[in-house]
Amino acid sequence: MDKLSNIGTIKEILTRHGFSFSKTLGQNFLINPSVCPRIAELGNAAPGWGILEIGTGIGVLTVELSKRADKVVAVEIDTRLMPVLAETLQECNNVKIINQDILQVDLQQLLREEFPDQPVAVCANLPYYITSPILMHLLESRLPIRSITVMVQKEAAERICALPGTRSVGAISIAVRYFSEPKLLFHVSRGSFMPSPNVDSCVIRLDIREQTPADVQDETFFFQLVRAAFSQRRKTLINPVSAVLQLPKQQVADAVAAAGLKPTVRAEELQMEQFIALSNLLGPQRAT
Ligand code: SAM
Repeated sequence: MDKLSNIGTIKEILTRHGFSFSKTLGQNFLINPSVCPRIAELGNAAPGWGILEIGTGIGVLTVELSKRADKVVAVEIDTRLMPVLAETLQECNNVKIINQDILQVDLQQLLREEFPDQPVAVCANLPYYITSPILMHLLESRLPIRSITVMVQKEAAERICALPGTRSVGAISIAVRYFSEPKLLFHVSRGSFMPSPNVDSCVIRLDIREQTPADVQDETFFFQLVRAAFSQRRKTLINPVSAVLQLPKQQVADAVAAAGLKPTVRAEELQMEQFIALSNLLGPQRAT
């Protein structure tokens, strides 16, 4: 179907299927025809590649991915969209739709079965209500994927791509950077969607690292520490870390000093290596 990105075509299809948008499912569909080809091209949709898409809507991005990649597997939660997709994707022979919640899918198994021997990338215009859980689900599952190219809310994009040691950094920035190299690709205005959301958006790409930092002794504790440190982001780090992780204040203060940090240091001032050093100092103490 050639004119799927045309707003008239989209409206006609949705009306004919009696489809009404679900706010709860974050349904803001792309109607700007220039955006999906850019996501596909910058997101590694190319000959030889397999693509995992999350949230198809009526398939505007799916069609562009299908044109460029060898195979597309797309996970969409909304059963009401299945008959719509059967129509809009009828000419896309290399697309498989899975009607499921992405957070419930065993992604390791899915990728093993669907893409046994080709490089895989994730592309999506994400439902904004679960941006962080989806990204962390993808990253923590340590999937054999090369990149994640997604549309997210502008503020989320800025937070995710923020460098450690800057004011915009948060727990998600550190977590994402642990697994990948994030990059803000381009901005998308709210008018590019139907219905138009109250926020602007950005497309970001996370290039997955071949190896996560080798010097982290206890990964679970490292992420607990990062979350605790940012739980009161403007306060000195010692207080939230000792409160959330239930460690004596003096113990945290000693670790902060041993890591070469000043006692008044705040989470947003720390580099990745300093979080790692703190985690390696405090982790073993907590276990005893
Ligand atoms: N890709 C389409 C586009 O660009 O027009 C739709 C994007 S819309 C922002 C997000 C899509 O994700 C919707 O189709 C929604 O039904 C779907 N979705 C929401 N929650 C989901 C979940 N947990 N698992 C899979 N899909 C989900």
